[in-house]
Amino acid sequence: SNIATTTTKVVVKAEEEHNGPIVTRNALMWFRNDLRIRDNKALYAASMRSKVGGTGNNHFLIALYIISEEEWAEHDEAPVKIDFWMRNLVTLKASLDKLAIPLVVKTARKKTDVVKVVEEVVEGMGVSHVFWSQELMVDERKRDRVVREALARKHPSVYVEEHEDQLVVPAEDVRTKTGNPYAVFTPFYNTWCKLVETESHYLEITEMSDANPLKAKEIYVEYFKAKPPSSHPHPLDVDEMKRRYPAGEDEAHARLDKFVQEKAKKYHQGRDVPHQDGTSMLSPYLNAGVLSTRQCIVAARIANKNKIQSGDDGLKTWIKELGWRVCLLDWIRAFQPKTERVQWTDNNEHFQRWTEGKTGFPIVDAGKQLKATGYMHNRLRMIVACFLVKDLLINWQQGEKYFMNNLIDGDLASNNGGWQWSASTGTDSQPYFRVFNPLLQSQRYDPKGEYIRRWVPELKSLTDKQIHDPSQALSPKDFAKLGYSKPIVEHAKAKARYLEEFKRALGLS
Ligand code: FAD
Repeated sequence: SNIATTTTKVVVKAEEEHNGPIVTRNALMWFRNDLRIRDNKALYAASMRSKVGGTGNNHFLIALYIISEEEWAEHDEAPVKIDFWMRNLVTLKASLDKLAIPLVVKTARKKTDVVKVVEEVVEGMGVSHVFWSQELMVDERKRDRVVREALARKHPSVYVEEHEDQLVVPAEDVRTKTGNPYAVFTPFYNTWCKLVETESHYLEITEMSDANPLKAKEIYVEYFKAKPPSSHPHPLDVDEMKRRYPAGEDEAHARLDKFVQEKAKKYHQGRDVPHQDGTSMLSPYLNAGVLSTRQCIVAARIANKNKIQSGDDGLKTWIKELGWRVCLLDWIRAFQPKTERVQWTDNNEHFQRWTEGKTGFPIVDAGKQLKATGYMHNRLRMIVACFLVKDLLINWQQGEKYFMNNLIDGDLASNNGGWQWSASTGTDSQPYFRVFNPLLQSQRYDPKGEYIRRWVPELKSLTDKQIHDPSQALSPKDFAKLGYSKPIVEHAKAKARYLEEFKRALGLS
């Protein structure tokens, strides 16, 4: 078509990043979910190529970030997550400043204005090349297509270059023999690991070193008036969130190093015990792109004597979880259509109680961690998700939305993948007949009730034995004194109701 011939658009693989047209005027790096300067393929390519091309007096590398409130609202982004991203934008700006790469911050009132904003910057600042890291979600891809097409129409000489930088290896190489995506995680992961092992260059980290030679700021003063907001209003304790999730690449790397050195070797044992803090707490950084998956894998691989699928149990398990992240990003598609026929209950009171931690199941109610901190341990995410879907028979999409509205690490692929796995509606989910028993989960993963005591203080005074099921363990009088809810459903009955409905929907009864 017209568009294809006027502008060359490619997804650039790692090995090709130095090739491609030389920057003839200014180069623009549009930051989105890749808020880092280290190991950022698109930024690296932009800087290398503008250095080669930028010999005249007017060649600069400029960075752009567009604030789009409407997109945030549409994607149910949690205020606490937006705050984290904005804080990281401020540290990104400081890092870019050191490299003399100025950051233009613009606001798009409506999401459709994003294209206008890019055009204005391209026109106003004499940009000949636009670089960005590919985002993999449907809406973002659509947005990028619209931007590319608009630029191609109005500025046919502008070259847009998109770098795939999240899956570590090219997705099209992680396919079955017939060229289709894997429908099951394990073969996906085995193929992915083999590629990473045999073609180690996929793990090559790019580091920015050279500064922009000239000071674009002095010429384009107008563009640099808007500063990134250093915060976004959210309902949690602002100082506490800053302490818990400090912004910036240095912080993310310090956390990664500390985890790999001190905790990773016990990860396979500690990761499932919610009160133990045995996980890395890196998800907010990974999702904002402050840290790349590649950097995590490289760090873990070095600690694991160059191994990925073998070696230390903790490190290899952790790398595998990162593999899940990559797989879900690649997957975000098909779920078993038959489960669309499930008749969910519309019990709003039950849903409210689930969000407020008033179900009467202590381990489920300990999920209040999410509302209080913007984070929830993975074991808890599985327990509360399974409870919502299977005990309460409430549509998993309601839970998915509630998570997005509250998570600091909210990520469409991981969240949707996690919910569909738990709800048995996904591509490689747990089988529908597996229903977590909240009592057994509680006794197994929080045997002394330490996690429950932290988040359900009404139960603090109970013994390790009583705490998992207080309404049964105490006399009615003692139970009433606690001021704690009675179980809102009877697990055995709820399970039977769910199984009946799922079998019907799947055509098994
Ligand atoms: P670690 O255990 O240290 O793992 C390291 C990294 O591997 C994580 O940061 C994450 O990027 C990745 N990872 C680990 N477990 C998983 C997993 N099961 N699926 C995908 N990636 C994984 N994760 C999100 O990042 N955003 C979400 O919105 C999200 N929603 C979820 C919803 C449900 C219902 C479930 C069951 C899981 C969800 N997860 C989500 C996955 C997982 O719970 C979090 O990634 C993890 O708890 C983050 O803590 P961590 O960084 O300490 O993880």
